[in-house]
Amino acid sequence: MRGLMMDVPLSVSSILRHAAAYHGETEIVSRLADGDIHRTTYAATWARSQQLANGLVRLGLTAGDRIGTLAWNSFRHLEVYFSTAGAGFVCHTINPRLFPEQIAYIINHAADRVLFVEPGFLGLLEAIADKLGKVEAIVVMTDRGNMPAGPSKFAKVICFEELLAREPAVFDWPVLDENTAAALCYTSGTTGDPKGVLYSHRSIVLHAMSACMPDVFALGAGSVVMAVVPMFHVNAWGLPYAAPMCGAKLVLPGAKLDPESLHDLIATERVTHSAGVPTVWMALLDWIDAKAKTFGLLKRVVIGGSACPPAMFARFRDHGVFVLHAWGMTETSPLGLVNSPKANSATRSPAEAVAFSAKQGRPLFGIQYRIVDADDNEIAHDGVAFGSLLVRGPWVAASYSGSSESVAHRPDGWFETGDVVTMDADGYVQVVDRTKDVIKSGGEWISSIELENIAVSHPAVREAAVVAKPDARWGERPLLVVIRRPGADLSEPDLLAHYEGKVARWCVPDSVVFVEELPHTATGKLLKSRIRELYAAAAQPDRRK
Ligand code: AMP
Repeated sequence: MRGLMMDVPLSVSSILRHAAAYHGETEIVSRLADGDIHRTTYAATWARSQQLANGLVRLGLTAGDRIGTLAWNSFRHLEVYFSTAGAGFVCHTINPRLFPEQIAYIINHAADRVLFVEPGFLGLLEAIADKLGKVEAIVVMTDRGNMPAGPSKFAKVICFEELLAREPAVFDWPVLDENTAAALCYTSGTTGDPKGVLYSHRSIVLHAMSACMPDVFALGAGSVVMAVVPMFHVNAWGLPYAAPMCGAKLVLPGAKLDPESLHDLIATERVTHSAGVPTVWMALLDWIDAKAKTFGLLKRVVIGGSACPPAMFARFRDHGVFVLHAWGMTETSPLGLVNSPKANSATRSPAEAVAFSAKQGRPLFGIQYRIVDADDNEIAHDGVAFGSLLVRGPWVAASYSGSSESVAHRPDGWFETGDVVTMDADGYVQVVDRTKDVIKSGGEWISSIELENIAVSHPAVREAAVVAKPDARWGERPLLVVIRRPGADLSEPDLLAHYEGKVARWCVPDSVVFVEELPHTATGKLLKSRIRELYAAAAQPDRRK
């Protein structure tokens, strides 16, 4: 027997329609490229998104067409998000930090017909224009006065504000099947070509509803949320949808992610919630401590993308800010695990709470988890046994866009994440490593993340990476590569002594390489493959102490 409820499809446009109707005056604040602050509201964004949707139809786009964006977090990017998906097109966010060849590959693979680009990324796009045969027009995300003066290699260069200006602020939003594609994001792919994850209206709405919940972003109409995570990084972890869904004020910091600019927004916009990868927060914490500033009203920061070191959790806690360690992937929309406390955590001492923050968290409702050993048997949930993490759920990718590749997908329909993890009796998962980064020493596995967390708990360490170094006797041994804090005096023996009592002796890195910088992926993760190439392949030829 079928239920007798209305068959109303879940849709991205309904999120903004709701925000405009019931939170119409709530602000969206953007920092523009020149540093100026721009203010708009959900009501105005709804009107402009309808103008833009009309403009897109007038460009000749038809259902399912892909529209690329090369842009920071801003009100115009938000308008592109909603107008494209709402009108039945696909919003394809492109990470501008990728190599130009990768960007060209992604644009061509997605077959983007139109690209929305911020003036700051025009040079990047012009340099690869010859390779972008399928792109029919670019829309420069600015007003007439700031349009580029010089010639372009693209046949059609349109001004964003002019595209809108001619159009009515009423658009006849199509009623779409909720499984229609709405957004596209490519994995950063440290090896091989990037792979496209094609989100549906249904997956986006369900994920956003989950993201608002008290144990996740904990958003409400009284919140002011600053999306530090870029809108080209897995849809800014769902914040551009979650904030309007619950009527939260949205702060978009643009390209200026330096500590001073972020602190300025936190203070003046009275930011209560934020989210981003660990590297941004490390810089902000250092700046705040050096300048004796405060985090104002900020009370919750979601940190993920890479492991959040417990030392970072502790520093935020000392400033009165709760860090929610979270885990996710491009393929999981991204939210999957959150380290939010249960009632039984009340008895934890402050030190135990810091140690517990190393866990990535427990499953959100909606995503199912299996952790299996090499023989596909479920491992014990004791926080010690580890295995390969498999997931399935309504906001997990079923396959990659425009690809026959299904390597990460098992015949049973579960997605193999490539992460090696433990799970404790309470359901909290801890990532030991990416399968390819774990260090296999004498038949035992050593977690590079655990060793990195210990290194960055040393006050003289700014950033640390641990990689496997080939070893004739043990197969692999851990090598620690470290950036010291400016002016810090730190020797190899001092740092290795810091491991005493924290891990078994055989897990302690054999040696340390001190460096000035570490390579990162386009989404801010340590680029372990490159670090191995640089420092672990040879026997530390240029060790500096
Ligand atoms: P991407 O799809 O490029 O965002 O990468 C997803 C991968 O990032 C995951 O499979 C994990 O290996 C890693 N990752 C994400 N969040 C965390 C976290 N909190 N701790 C450790 N690794 C993480």
